[in-house]
Amino acid sequence: MRNFLIIALAALTLACTPEPSIDVLCTTSVVADAARQLLPEEISVQALMQSNIDPHSYKPVESDVAKLSNAGVILHNGLHLEGKMTDILEKVGQQKPVYAMSSALQSHDLIEVGPNTYDPHIWFDLQLWNRCVGELALFLKGEFPQHSAAIESNAMDYFSELVAAHDEFVLAINEVPDSVRALVTAHDAFSYFGRAYGIEVHGLQGISTAAEFGIRDMTSSAQFILDRNLSTVFIETSVNSKSIEALQEAVEQKGGKVRIGAPLFSDALGAEGTPEATLIGAFTHNTTQILKSFN
Ligand SMILES: [Zn+2]
Repeated sequence: MRNFLIIALAALTLACTPEPSIDVLCTTSVVADAARQLLPEEISVQALMQSNIDPHSYKPVESDVAKLSNAGVILHNGLHLEGKMTDILEKVGQQKPVYAMSSALQSHDLIEVGPNTYDPHIWFDLQLWNRCVGELALFLKGEFPQHSAAIESNAMDYFSELVAAHDEFVLAINEVPDSVRALVTAHDAFSYFGRAYGIEVHGLQGISTAAEFGIRDMTSSAQFILDRNLSTVFIETSVNSKSIEALQEAVEQKGGKVRIGAPLFSDALGAEGTPEATLIGAFTHNTTQILKSFN
């Protein structure tokens, strides 16, 4: 890995590669969606990681190095979501603008999970994400001043969409009694979502899929499902479903029964051309499935 990184970082200094240039290169599909919502179509936006890709374990491949080298601007989530890209993003940042969506937030906005370590899954709290998008708009206006008016207008439209999606879900969730508002997923990607919308969330793995889960996690998760009388547990599109299948078995061994719900979008959005390819589409899918699980 170290050797590859040294070669990769060295390759970054070579400007001549056959890859076409990209105006805005984003790490994840969530970040790319924010950029696409704001920028006019003539500015090319690309995501390094496609749908179903887990950003916690994603290691840059050779073609990514060429893309990073050829991009005008790089956008990433930050807070170590892209844990295995930290070195390469730092290196690229010495040569061109590299912007983290999370830089819009203060530590008191964030969920602390360890000393100076914060949960990176900031996008499913739509009010929090709205602020990140607002700061991104300012950054992009600085980078593309000729498109400043279009970015401003797109930002206003998108803010309204985010507010509408937020308000609609708040109205729906307020109909659900507090006692049944609980959610079990494969990894802890929904803590901000839970905080924003009053849902107790329980991830089988921690905030990174890189962490192992043990028998104790499995037993306590199974007990949580039984205690809260949950009908459904959720797999995620970017995380292996084996852990949730094992959890379903653990619940059955304790004499309970739980079904596996339609996969939720957590760290990656849906495939291009589907409604879930946008954050609002993925949020709508998730919230529809979660509300259904409460019935
Ligand atoms: Zn995650």
